[in-house]
Amino acid sequence: MSDTVLHQRTAGVPISIEGVGKTFNSSKGTSFEALKPVTMDIRPGEFISIVGPSGCGKSTLMLMAAGLLDRTEGVIRIGGTTVNKPYTDIGIAFQDHLLLDFRTAMENVLIHADIRGLDKKALRVRATELFKQLHLEKAMDKYPRQLSGGMRQRVSLIRTIVHEPSVLLLDEPFGALDALTRLQVRADLEALWLRNKPTVIFITHSVEEAVGLSDRIFVMSPTPGQVVDEIAVDLPRPRPLALVESPDFGAYVDRIYGHFERMGVLHGIEIPKRAGE
Ligand code: ADP
Repeated sequence: MSDTVLHQRTAGVPISIEGVGKTFNSSKGTSFEALKPVTMDIRPGEFISIVGPSGCGKSTLMLMAAGLLDRTEGVIRIGGTTVNKPYTDIGIAFQDHLLLDFRTAMENVLIHADIRGLDKKALRVRATELFKQLHLEKAMDKYPRQLSGGMRQRVSLIRTIVHEPSVLLLDEPFGALDALTRLQVRADLEALWLRNKPTVIFITHSVEEAVGLSDRIFVMSPTPGQVVDEIAVDLPRPRPLALVESPDFGAYVDRIYGHFERMGVLHGIEIPKRAGE
């Protein structure tokens, strides 16, 4: 692939999730409804979050969106095309950074050249820009074991985004990090996303993270999960971390918190403490 293609500004594509549900059937003939039919119309370049208690079907929905798991019902379209096999114009990140121990940080990021057949030189130029943007130049030639947990997760974010996919699927990518590092990585993610605005589906247990990052938040009920609220977050970007102190930020948090309180599912949900509490 040429430099030109690699450096195109690939704004995100729409994702349409229409009545998508999932029932797992076991070999013993039992069945378990993990997800009730959900519908989400996600705009090109939109950053949406899904918050909900553990086990409500968030990861299941994400795997179906990526074409990695069959749906029981409903239709998913990415950029107008129905997803019936693994979707490739995509960046995926999980809680575990999944870096390869025997490759340096840069070599981990350049893995796309091998698996996607991209031009390595062009990819390296873009990767170097991203390492610089996150002030990680010194980490480029280090091995994962030589980096802190936060640095490893930030390298993983660079790898998720370096090939400029039109869609990012992020499943609790900051779950294993301490609170302070999480704030840094959150800011990094927003900065990376703002560069060329891929469409993002972000799964988190952290209400504060969802409000801090999203254009829209889908709140889910306990299993079998369904969407109980859809909240458009009208806050300026980039969002400084101090925004958490503002009444507007607090109102969004309270609205989501209220849902979890009513559903009796506060366990496992992270609610930020605000000034005066
Ligand atoms: P979340 O991401 O919200 O924590 P998951 O999507 O991982 O939830 O799981 C939703 C429910 O589906 C859980 O009860 C989980 O145990 C169940 N589940 C997930 N994958 C499978 C599977 N392959 N077979 C059977 N049940 C599954």
